[in-house]
Amino acid sequence: MSCGKDKATVKVIGGKYKPNGHFHTIEANTPIYNESDVLMGVTNPRSLTHIHAYGGESIFFESLSKGKLLGTKCENPDCEANGSIFIPFRIHCPDCLAKNTVVDMTEVANKGAKVYTFMTTERTGAFNTLEKPIRFVNVEFEGVPTILMGYLSVGEPRMGMKVVPIFQTKNPTFTILDLSWVPEGTNESQLPEGFTFG
Ligand SMILES: [Zn+2]
Repeated sequence: MSCGKDKATVKVIGGKYKPNGHFHTIEANTPIYNESDVLMGVTNPRSLTHIHAYGGESIFFESLSKGKLLGTKCENPDCEANGSIFIPFRIHCPDCLAKNTVVDMTEVANKGAKVYTFMTTERTGAFNTLEKPIRFVNVEFEGVPTILMGYLSVGEPRMGMKVVPIFQTKNPTFTILDLSWVPEGTNESQLPEGFTFG
C-alpha cells in the first residue's frame, strides 16, 4: 500500500493548503503467537503524515536555512517590556500581546552567546535523528531576557562557554535542527556536513 510516487505533499493555492497523495498508509498485519502457537494478537503497521503549519514563525525557519538567526522585539511604547528582544522567536509580546518586530540576531549570537547550562542525554524519544549522546545547551545572549535551547555539535559543553551558531544551509530540513552550536574558535572544517557559520 505504501508507494513512493503517492507520497504526501502539500501545495498552497490561493492561501489554502491543498494536500496531495497518501497521508495515511496501512500495511499488511502479522499475527503474534505465544510459544505454544496460540494467537495472542496482531501488529497493526500504519504510518501517517502530519502537516505542521508554521504560520507567523515561517520566516524564522526559512532564515535558518540561509544562515540567519532571527529574534523578535516588542516596540509598543506603552508596554513595560518595550525594547525587549525574544529568542526563541515570539510572534507576539507576552506582556502586551502586540505583534513583535522581527530582528536579525545573527551578529549578536556570533559575538555574545554563552552556555547558561547544559544537559547530556544518551536516551532519546522516538524518531530522534540527532547523534547520541545529545549535548543540549541553553544559550543566553547579550541583552536578551530569554534563553534558547539548542544542541552542541562540536566538543563538550561547559557552563559559561562561549558558543557560536551554525546553520544547515545545504539540504536544510526547515526545522529547529537546522540550528546548532559550536565552541567559539571552531574551525569551519570541523562542522557537521551541510553546516556553515552564519
Ligand atoms: Zn510588549
